[in-house]
Amino acid sequence: MDTAEPALICSAKGCRTPAVWVLAWNNPKLHTPERRKTWLACAEHREYLSQFLGVRGFLKEVVTLTDWQDAEKSAARDAEQGAGNDSGNDAGDRPGPERG
Ligand SMILES: [Zn+2]
Repeated sequence: MDTAEPALICSAKGCRTPAVWVLAWNNPKLHTPERRKTWLACAEHREYLSQFLGVRGFLKEVVTLTDWQDAEKSAARDAEQGAGNDSGNDAGDRPGPERG
């Protein structure tokens, strides 16, 4: 019970290596332009998978898994703030373990 999240594994066939890259892609025949599908890749398969998508013209961006997760987190946070709280004032909100 010490791992909160399951490891994200490389999308390459037969690969069980934890992923360190995210390949964001879009098939214009199937997806709207803003839609992003993602493949995960280990260091070894990043080149292979990005070429696979690249030759088809599907590949949009390649980012590290860490960056991708950070971006998702901040996107979620923005959405939350937009939905729930419209005061928009976070000037006094300092990071710290204790609040209130
Ligand atoms: Zn792999």
